[in-house]
Amino acid sequence: MRPRFSADTLRHLRNNIPIHRLIGDVLGIPCKVREGYFRFLCPHCSDFNTATNPKTNLARCFRCERNFNPIDIVMLEKRINFVEAVEYLSGIVTLNREPKTPITPQQDESPRPCKGPPGCKKP
Ligand SMILES: [Zn+2]
Repeated sequence: MRPRFSADTLRHLRNNIPIHRLIGDVLGIPCKVREGYFRFLCPHCSDFNTATNPKTNLARCFRCERNFNPIDIVMLEKRINFVEAVEYLSGIVTLNREPKTPITPQQDESPRPCKGPPGCKKP
């Protein structure tokens, strides 16, 4: 009984989770921007000779000569299997989706008409 994931789900996870944000913000892999490129510490060989490609949403290590998609990088970094990585990423996507409430300015400081009770005509 292993969970199955649709091709759509997998494609969505690979393409719609920005790889650099996953690496830096979610997984907390050491990273830096050098010479205009986002570099991260390769979880495979621990080298910063890396880059990400926003077009393909892949991370690449030039030393390992390997490309990592979001699922790969989660598997490597967290040392979990494919199914666990997909579930992990699905959780992230759900989390990111829910609190997307539009930020409405709460400072609607319309002055309350506070001039005593209306019709206050005491004898
Ligand atoms: Zn590497």
